[in-house]
Amino acid sequence: ERPCILDDEEGGILFFATASSSSSGYGYKSIEKQRQRLPVYKYRTAILYLVETHATTIIVGETGSGKTTQIPQFLKEAGWADGGRVIACTQPRRLAVQAVASRVAEEMGVKLGEEVGYTIRFEDVTNPDATRVKFLTDGVLLREMMDDPLLTKYSVIMVDEAHERSLSTDILLGLLKKIQRCRPELRLIISSATIEAKKISAFFGTRKRHQKKEIEEQRPKLDPAILSVEGRGYNVEIHYVREPVPDYLQASVSTVMLIHDQEPMGDILVFLTGQDDIDAAVQLLTEEAQSHRRNSSGLIVLPLYSGLPRSEQDLIFSPTPRNKRKVVISTNIAETSLTLEGIVYVVDSGFSKQRFYNPISDLENLIVAPISKASARQRAGRAGRVRPGKCYRLYTEDYFLNEMSNEGVPEMQRSNLVSSVIQLKALGIDNILGFDWLASPLPEAMIRALEVLYSLGVIDDDAKLTSPVGFQVAEIPLEPMISKMILSSNQLGCSEEIITISAILSVQSIWVSVRGSQKDLDEAKLRFAAAEGDHVTYLNVYKGFLQSGKSSQWCHRNFINYHAMKKVMETREQLRRISLRLGIVLKSCDRDMEVVRKAVTAGFFANACRLEPYSEGGMYKTVRSSQAVYIHPSSVLLVLRNLTSDCIQFINLESLREYLGIDRTS
Ligand code: ADP
Ligand code: MG
Repeated sequence: ERPCILDDEEGGILFFATASSSSSGYGYKSIEKQRQRLPVYKYRTAILYLVETHATTIIVGETGSGKTTQIPQFLKEAGWADGGRVIACTQPRRLAVQAVASRVAEEMGVKLGEEVGYTIRFEDVTNPDATRVKFLTDGVLLREMMDDPLLTKYSVIMVDEAHERSLSTDILLGLLKKIQRCRPELRLIISSATIEAKKISAFFGTRKRHQKKEIEEQRPKLDPAILSVEGRGYNVEIHYVREPVPDYLQASVSTVMLIHDQEPMGDILVFLTGQDDIDAAVQLLTEEAQSHRRNSSGLIVLPLYSGLPRSEQDLIFSPTPRNKRKVVISTNIAETSLTLEGIVYVVDSGFSKQRFYNPISDLENLIVAPISKASARQRAGRAGRVRPGKCYRLYTEDYFLNEMSNEGVPEMQRSNLVSSVIQLKALGIDNILGFDWLASPLPEAMIRALEVLYSLGVIDDDAKLTSPVGFQVAEIPLEPMISKMILSSNQLGCSEEIITISAILSVQSIWVSVRGSQKDLDEAKLRFAAAEGDHVTYLNVYKGFLQSGKSSQWCHRNFINYHAMKKVMETREQLRRISLRLGIVLKSCDRDMEVVRKAVTAGFFANACRLEPYSEGGMYKTVRSSQAVYIHPSSVLLVLRNLTSDCIQFINLESLREYLGIDRTS
């Protein structure tokens, strides 16, 4: 009596017209055929049966087998969203949430934001009355628990990409295990691209004594079911470099050109580490392709990283025109989160950007670090989707065999835990060390986190959240230091300014960096520069942006990222709404930057440091732990110092600008 395949076909006639006119050019029939060709399609009945009979189902399947896009639809078709219930599917990455939700809406022939919707931080594209299948980041689902601790509106929660072991996924799994005890009707699906599943299965497993009770009460089985979906990847030929490469960026560009010159048609996927080196590679390749004697018009070079504007995301998925070759240069988001069709060649730099936290120095860095063997295998696998492919590893075979680690370290064990601790506290979990962790966090990191929260006044002597400050800080979806800064701005009368600063801090960067034009960027920064530092400089940029009428040309002229500024505007509105809810009075301090600095300090005092008077290269030491630190290369303070080569405090900005012949924009 549950609607299934037949209904699809009925619906198919209805959707045909709309879907075939969509930008991707696929008709509905072809979408339905594509769906049926995916490996999970054969497992539809098995998956639905296991979900029906088990509290937790673990699904292991190769990337691209259809786990993310198909399983939520199977559940919906089988009635799991009837009666106003919602099916949730979490992803560690925001871009993946958006891309997958829009794909599923397209497959179902519905408008995104209605039956199928998504939520990421500061962006909610759902309709509470209509949304039945909801994609969201694992972090957002954790936040939803603050209002609804048992997540009662969800019938099935699919925790996707569990092999990534993101910080929020790990915490979420611990909490979901607790929720299951109170809500036997809740179903969990945990999906993963690797055998990491075994660890997770053991985590959810129970002892024998439950089984008798399960049978008596006709409850779903508590021991998780594991289903492995067979992939249908083609063979991938692996090539290694003979000697280690000195510059992986340059090496990737030459490898792409080599493939383009010598290999038959087929798209190329390049794994680099982050926006900077991806943008640089795109620029180099575009130049290279233009200067190339043959084939010069054959390459379409596209970047792929989080924060990419929507229009560019769509290009990534659109089919490659005939006689062209697409080159996608991506972060490790294309490793398992997103599958691109048509990739035949993979170029693997061997690196990715990873978070590393050192609890002793209390510094968290985003650094370019070697990937694990598991990642390298996943990356290579991307080449064998449509036909046998090739993977070019920019490291030696010896390095792969003898030096690469087998698996990555869970994010839990290499992150600052301040945000996680406050979230658990807000959910009433006070004994954090006794929490059921999938991988236990480092005790030093835990102590550091408690220390910071205590000094911020967020927790009290008994390590309980303080009222109201602790609860308010937890309520704001930002790092606790930033949240504290917002709360302090209330008494100081500068909440509008501090909210602007907070919104800017929550986007990656508002500056555009173009390889080879550092000097122009520095000059642009100087137009807005404030001797007080980056925060006040941001306010100047924001003011200039508003005065320009939010103009994209103005941004272009001033090396400011227009998309980032639009995101800042949206985030700012959301933060204002949250602030009002918390009873913060929205007030501007006009030109009084002293109060702005006080508010910033109220949040970030733990980062205070002192200039070492006789050190080389402007070394500072943190007040808290005498850790040596330097001003970040992107900081406006460094731009000022480079230009004046002396102490920053005494600069008269007006005369400096005059001296350098730079006009003021704001
Ligand atoms: P898995 O989760 O198992 O890795 P997915 O469900 O993400 O697999 O992908 C299944 C198929 O859907 C793949 O062929 C992929 O190319 C396609 N697909 C996914 N997202 C999009 C999108 N936004 N646009 C076009 N095709 C997509
Ligand atoms: Mg997936």
